Amino acid sequence: MARARTDLHCHSTASDGELPPAEVVAMAAAESVSTLSLTDHDTFGGQAEAADAAARHGVRFVHGIELSVKAPSGSMHLLGYFPGAEPQPLADALDEMKRRRADRARIMVGKLNDLGVALRYEDVEALADGPVGRPHVAEALVAGGFVADRQDAFDRYLADDRPAAVPHAGLTPVEAVETVVESGGAPVLAHPNSLAMPAGALGRFVSDLASAGLVGIEVFRPEHTDADRSAFTSLADRHGLVASGGSDFHRPSDSRLGDTGAPPLPDDTADRLLARAGAA
Ligand code: MN
Ligand code: MN
Ligand code: MN
Repeated sequence: MARARTDLHCHSTASDGELPPAEVVAMAAAESVSTLSLTDHDTFGGQAEAADAAARHGVRFVHGIELSVKAPSGSMHLLGYFPGAEPQPLADALDEMKRRRADRARIMVGKLNDLGVALRYEDVEALADGPVGRPHVAEALVAGGFVADRQDAFDRYLADDRPAAVPHAGLTPVEAVETVVESGGAPVLAHPNSLAMPAGALGRFVSDLASAGLVGIEVFRPEHTDADRSAFTSLADRHGLVASGGSDFHRPSDSRLGDTGAPPLPDDTADRLLARAGAA
């Protein structure tokens, strides 16, 4: 039997994953994952189902989330890990953001209509299981035959500098870190490469987040090179952060649960993160 593994980053149908939460957990158990966190984008919607399934499969479940944050450059996601379900004030803040995001999608559809694109908001909403966002507007544009593909939708209408774009009204990086901490959680910077920052700028940015309460940074991810691992490990060491990670599993055709690259994510990572949850 394969050794026990820890995976602290994956997705279900509660956000943009392909499998329902219970199936993600069942697959994780089959992959010898003994500690799992489900970290759907901007929702706790899958947590209860996953926690139930984890109890049935004898998998330790850590409540988690992956927050979309207003990035200073590139894109930024912040993971949060919690000792219990429905952490407040974050759960309420997400409900509010979900309403705002739906408004944003509505405004985009209005702009598209002004541009002569006869897309209906109902057709966008029908494509979203959870929060309605810009990707769903893009999908609806493709489905309606208004554009050739998703890229075309962004290039012609939806990218930040295009005519149907609506500014993002999300949390700033420091607000996101502070909200996770206030909610009793442990904030962790996801995939630092997505920030597209040179090393010096990334170092200053992580230093500011650490002052705000950041407790971890993703080091163990399957796509990280040895150079990524060593750069992010030293960044973690410099700022007293836990080197965390996960598979970022979305669907079986793309990746495997429990695959956090080599060497794998250490099994004491969840304990080390939760030991610092809620402490700014
Ligand atoms: Mn995703
Ligand atoms: Mn992400
Ligand atoms: Mn993810």
